[in-house]
Amino acid sequence: MSTQFSWPVPGGTRTSHNFRCKCPKHIGSDNGNGHPGVDIAAPEGRDIIAVADGIISAIENNIVGFQEKSYGNYIEIEHTTNGVKNGLKTRYCHCVYKSVLGEKGGKVVKNQRIAKVGNSGNSQDAHLHFEVHKNNTLVDPYLYVSPNS
Ligand SMILES: [Zn+2]
Ligand SMILES: [Zn+2]
Repeated sequence: MSTQFSWPVPGGTRTSHNFRCKCPKHIGSDNGNGHPGVDIAAPEGRDIIAVADGIISAIENNIVGFQEKSYGNYIEIEHTTNGVKNGLKTRYCHCVYKSVLGEKGGKVVKNQRIAKVGNSGNSQDAHLHFEVHKNNTLVDPYLYVSPNS
């Protein structure tokens, strides 16, 4: 096992929308490869935390309501080990409008609040869409997170 990350939404629950699921909702995702991340259910407004230390590599904060093929408001973090980038990146999507904290290039520490669970972009109910990228390739987030951590 590599880096153990925190569960990104304290109190949030795992859903059946697993990595690469091709359910009716996700069959067209990622050019037909299926769901590029996992969905974690939680009420709108619930805190999202950074799963590990890192540097903010992207932020979107200005999406209002539904937008097809959109992550909505999101934050992306490049993770570091002892201050050095370690090839892992996480992305937290569909956040509440203007709830994403910090700015591109800013530092975050593990368990720091970074955004709130929302329903912006291509989303039909409040949830966190969470992705893990390893050396710029999508990997199964459940290799790194678990609801009990
Ligand atoms: Zn699905
Ligand atoms: Zn999703």
